[in-house]
Amino acid sequence: MKRDLYETLGVAKTADEKELKSAFRKLAMKYHPDKNPGDAASEKTFKEINEAYETLKDPQKRAAYDRYGHAAFEQGGMGNGFGGGAGGAGGFSDIFEDIFGEMMGGGRQRRSSGGRERGADLRYNMEISLEEAYSGKTAQIRVPTSITCDVCTGSGAKPGTSPKTCGTCQGSGRVRAAQGFFSIERTCPTCGGRGQTITDPCTKCHGHGRVTEERTLSVNIPAGIEDGTRIRLSGEGEAGVRGGPAGDLYIFLSVKPHEFYQRDGADLYCSVPISMTTAALGGKFDVTTLDGTKSRVTVPEGTQAGKQFRLKGKGMPVLRSSQTGDLYIQMQIETPQKLTKRQRELLQEFEQISSKDNNPESAGFFARMKDFFDTLSD
Ligand SMILES: [Zn+2]
Ligand SMILES: [Zn+2]
Repeated sequence: MKRDLYETLGVAKTADEKELKSAFRKLAMKYHPDKNPGDAASEKTFKEINEAYETLKDPQKRAAYDRYGHAAFEQGGMGNGFGGGAGGAGGFSDIFEDIFGEMMGGGRQRRSSGGRERGADLRYNMEISLEEAYSGKTAQIRVPTSITCDVCTGSGAKPGTSPKTCGTCQGSGRVRAAQGFFSIERTCPTCGGRGQTITDPCTKCHGHGRVTEERTLSVNIPAGIEDGTRIRLSGEGEAGVRGGPAGDLYIFLSVKPHEFYQRDGADLYCSVPISMTTAALGGKFDVTTLDGTKSRVTVPEGTQAGKQFRLKGKGMPVLRSSQTGDLYIQMQIETPQKLTKRQRELLQEFEQISSKDNNPESAGFFARMKDFFDTLSD
């Protein structure tokens, strides 16, 4: 027993053309064999949907069906009936094109625009220093790219001649082939989808319509840019084919690690080793910041390792704002090595006259640790 055609499409008997088409489209997408490879049930449903739509979209067939039901078509039987339309390439493939044109590899666009194709996107890797990220810059880059041939203005044909309409596809750029119960469109193998063949190719581009050239582009790198940023230059990719739009150029930016500064967002960190005596007695030193100027850091008496000093506003600029981060100077204390006899004597003497107040942390540490574990074991 065949299913009711309206029921198959899930529409009311009063459904208009638009509702039918929309219902068909939804179901066809869902049950399309490409989406359900190897699923016989889906394929069967897909076929039924097609047959139902094939009948109902035709006012005459719809009227006959409304009046007589499936009996109206029983002579030819479903699938190869309908006046030779449905089973083959005729009616169905038109709907197919209509609905799946955009899904099937852009065939529709290619066909309607005479072989125009968008150019490929290009990727360019750029590495800049932290100083360059700090100040921003205009970089000149050389990009090998294919551009529209100026001799034939992209047609691929020798000037004075013109491309001929392709005999295989009659200029449509597409050919049809039956595949199972429906027909499928393919790019024409003769002309590669152009719809035209070139008998007298342009000598500069050999019929491609594009030539490869190196171009110099100016790229604006804004101050404060982060590692890993992608800059898109619209339309600076490869030229389109036969007058199609150009692709985009993407610049993948990386910021080289810096010898002295580590970056965290807009803040910078710099680890500075100072001598044990500077840490104990106090002192001063200068650091050169990314803008090339010097900043003085005062080390107070008794500075401990790990102590941070903040230089406000000496970090990285924040992208597209007037703010800047801070620079943190982190103290590392270098223990003296390779002591002379005299130095050793002095330090030993220093040790002898030291009190707990000189080193409150280390003096009390082991006593506190012992107390802690003794209390636990009680
Ligand atoms: Zn050319
Ligand atoms: Zn062709």
